[in-house]
Amino acid sequence: MAFELPKLPYELSSLEPHIDARTMEIHHGKHHNAYVTNLNAALAGTDAETLTLEDICRNISKYPAPVRNNGGGHYNHSLFWTILSGSASTPSDKLTQAINTDLGGMDKLKEEFNKAATTRFGSGWAWLSVKEGKLVISSTPNQDNPLMDVADVKGTPIMGLDVWEHAYYLHYQNRRPDYCAAFWNVVNWAEVSRRYEAAL
Ligand code: MN
Repeated sequence: MAFELPKLPYELSSLEPHIDARTMEIHHGKHHNAYVTNLNAALAGTDAETLTLEDICRNISKYPAPVRNNGGGHYNHSLFWTILSGSASTPSDKLTQAINTDLGGMDKLKEEFNKAATTRFGSGWAWLSVKEGKLVISSTPNQDNPLMDVADVKGTPIMGLDVWEHAYYLHYQNRRPDYCAAFWNVVNWAEVSRRYEAAL
């Protein structure tokens, strides 16, 4: 059973002005689609064809680079689309409590997460994950993620921000910090909260 490009759960223009429709169109339709196509090609005829993407990520050190790059690409973007929304939402009480206890509050979360996102050199991702029941912030290079056995900080990712230039360059050019700041306007806190409870 081959992996498939998931449909976006909203219109291409839903995240404007923070993330523009043209960026979404290319990012989802071209970049993410290429990760899916290349992942399927890399897995074709191998034993891993029947595994879940999560299981592949957890043992990623055993796979060749095309599986790591494209499997991570497919997993990361599939998560990314769901934790974005054009509608306002707030974290659940349970997630709010954890943000206060584990990270020192929402302002501190934003500060640390944006630091992870803006200081990641080159291409990569910033993450909010659950590790042994606690929230942790980290970043990964390329298409790696915290599920992977190669990650410096391992955990179950519940929110991620793509900081590859393809994610923001059309609208923000070199201004990655502006893109990272705008991200907070389009976080789908309902979905991040759902993922938090599922990860516990
Ligand atoms: Mn991307």
